[in-house]
Amino acid sequence: MSAPATRMKMRRLRSGIAAFAMALAVAIPAAAAEDEAESALVESLLAKMTLEEKLGQLNQPRGRWGQTGPQVQEGGEDQIRAGRIGSYLGVHGADYTRRMQKIAVEESRLGIPLLFAHDVIHGFRTIFPVPLGESASFDVDAIENAARIAADEATAAGLHWTYAPMVDVARDPRWGRIVEGSGESAYLGSVLAAARVRGFQGGDLRADDTLMATAKHFVAYGAAEGGRDYNIADISERTLRDVYLPPFKAAADAGAASMMAAFNEVDGVPMHANGRLIDGVLRGEWGWDGILVSDYTGVLELIPHGVAGDRAEAGVRALEAGVDIDMVSDIYVDDLPAVVRADGLDEARVDAAVRRVLRAKYRLGLFDDPYRYSDDARERERILRPEYRAAARDVARKSMVLLKNAGDLLPLDRDAAGTIAVIGPLADDKRVMLGGWAAAGRAEDAVTPLEGIREAVGPGVRVLHARGADVEGDDRSGFDEAVALARQADVVLMFIGEHHDMSAEAHNRTTLDLPGVQQALVQAVHATGKPVVAVLFNGRPLSIGWLDANLPSILEAWFPGIEAGHAIADVLFGDHNPAGRLPVTFPRNVGQIPIYHDHKNTGRPPSEQEKYTSKYIDVPWTPLYAFGHGLSYTRFDYGDLAVDSARVAVGEPVTVAVTVTNVGKRAGDEVVQLYLRDDVASVTRPVRELRGFRRIHLQPGERRRIEFVLTAEAMGFHDAGGRIKVEPGRFTVFAGGSSDDVIETGFEVVPR
Ligand code: BGC
Repeated sequence: MSAPATRMKMRRLRSGIAAFAMALAVAIPAAAAEDEAESALVESLLAKMTLEEKLGQLNQPRGRWGQTGPQVQEGGEDQIRAGRIGSYLGVHGADYTRRMQKIAVEESRLGIPLLFAHDVIHGFRTIFPVPLGESASFDVDAIENAARIAADEATAAGLHWTYAPMVDVARDPRWGRIVEGSGESAYLGSVLAAARVRGFQGGDLRADDTLMATAKHFVAYGAAEGGRDYNIADISERTLRDVYLPPFKAAADAGAASMMAAFNEVDGVPMHANGRLIDGVLRGEWGWDGILVSDYTGVLELIPHGVAGDRAEAGVRALEAGVDIDMVSDIYVDDLPAVVRADGLDEARVDAAVRRVLRAKYRLGLFDDPYRYSDDARERERILRPEYRAAARDVARKSMVLLKNAGDLLPLDRDAAGTIAVIGPLADDKRVMLGGWAAAGRAEDAVTPLEGIREAVGPGVRVLHARGADVEGDDRSGFDEAVALARQADVVLMFIGEHHDMSAEAHNRTTLDLPGVQQALVQAVHATGKPVVAVLFNGRPLSIGWLDANLPSILEAWFPGIEAGHAIADVLFGDHNPAGRLPVTFPRNVGQIPIYHDHKNTGRPPSEQEKYTSKYIDVPWTPLYAFGHGLSYTRFDYGDLAVDSARVAVGEPVTVAVTVTNVGKRAGDEVVQLYLRDDVASVTRPVRELRGFRRIHLQPGERRRIEFVLTAEAMGFHDAGGRIKVEPGRFTVFAGGSSDDVIETGFEVVPR
């Protein structure tokens, strides 16, 4: 059948379905009619598809970087025509995606539109802080809004689908990908997973500015042994249920349209072959009905994992486990037709996956208008808008964590700071400011710290600049210039840390020390006796014990995005009072890993006084900076922590209230944190777990009563069947501005 004839047929089919739906409208709710229409279209297409066309829908090749931007691989257009491709990774641009879509819709036999997917992680062109940094803001609305803006820009460039949010709980900072998630807390990770899904997807996937979100990497990728990427995860079912699965559940509940399988194995079964967790937990227990996409060559990797002998077997195992789309391996499309024909794979499994892909295309509205996202004018208009830059600046400064500020050295007086020496390899580096996974971000869009500071200071202030050293390597030839500059200065600002691709996929480290000779540079500058402020750029906790012991002030800036320099100047000169908090514990050294706030107690809790307790002989067992730590230019006082009921029945909620007062002289934000412990249970429970937080703004002297509701879900833990169970007994509630600075009270749960 010719393509126009097919299109006419599809149009007729659609209008028939619409008429059918309208007729039903009086009798059944609109949503049900929509479901009917969707499945009628999907089933009618499925009935017409050859096996090759079905497997084509499950095939996702990657694009390549061409002369004018990302494009399909050589020969890709013919493959689209042949119906061998259902979606693309990394192909975008309004005009280009329109051209490829036209080939799919007008020149392939069935005219099924393509999906264009890309890693839009922390912004598309307007780059926000890296996800770990964003998470440090503890500002749910700002994070949701950042995802919304990313979706607006990305959809204007022809994209339908992002491979974000990464919701892997991560407790090992050696792992380079810790930068991509929300840190160590399953609770914070769940709240932010849902926020990001809402931000990307908006209220309606059919809208022109909404992207399908992907919760990744399902599951336990953050538990990779030794912090080594792609490595095995060997964790208990309890830890899987209580720690690693919850953010995925939160994403599923928020309506995430897709999820991505993880590279790792769990309990001996690689996730790309893990039917128990994909089909069993995700689809079975949770009833989630989105697309499960493989990770990059994840299907092929079942061979080196040692659970498939050849490509065909790898394809069968993945599809049977519930992996719908094969990203880049080309196994489904090339190897599976023969297997199905030889009765080595039930075609119904293929159909189930194809249904999910077609449904996603339907839900995006692509069968109504395949070009709705590929709009040149919108692409020009929606990218890098001034209000988007303003939002990026807002999130960047909210994400910064003031780790130390002895003697209130910060904020500096922009008019009376005298001479400021700006030193360090990252003071004037545009690219590093963006961080990794910067999508369509451009270094030229970024404002460096040096630029931001120069713009911010008054006319009487002198700004001097020297690099001093590189991020890596052992070249000390710039030290003398840096020291000479420091001698002329009243205050020294040092911009140091990691290169943006040091905290990234496949970039794991066995030390968390500052790379290269940067610490030696700081020491040389510090020896001048001048006050030194360190501003850190990194996508993981660093072990900065020397800095903490010797410098008055340290500001954690993460990789702040295109507005880096402005946001940093806002904080250094006090236009913004910092309130970011650590979403991950900073160890004293790499040997303390794993170290996280919601650990268990052991039978011999650590005590520096007692010898035979769970600790180290060479460093204290406590972290350098605890989860939730972060200072402000003002001070907050906590009091009157109370529960509304000292005894509740199993399953009942408890309302907790605490009064927070700004007892300092400046207005500022505070991240009010709530932690909970189940004191005695049938199994061991964490010493305290984050169970609520709120970022609030208080004027000097202002006080506010903040309420949190602890639900049964917050009090419970998972049983073997995946149900949340609350046990009677005593619970302790903690509230404060950091996990290690809290006041406490308690309540009793009694049997029903
Ligand atoms: C990463 C994924 C990413 C994919 C596509 C893989 O290497 O693990 O997180 O979405 O590449 O770029």
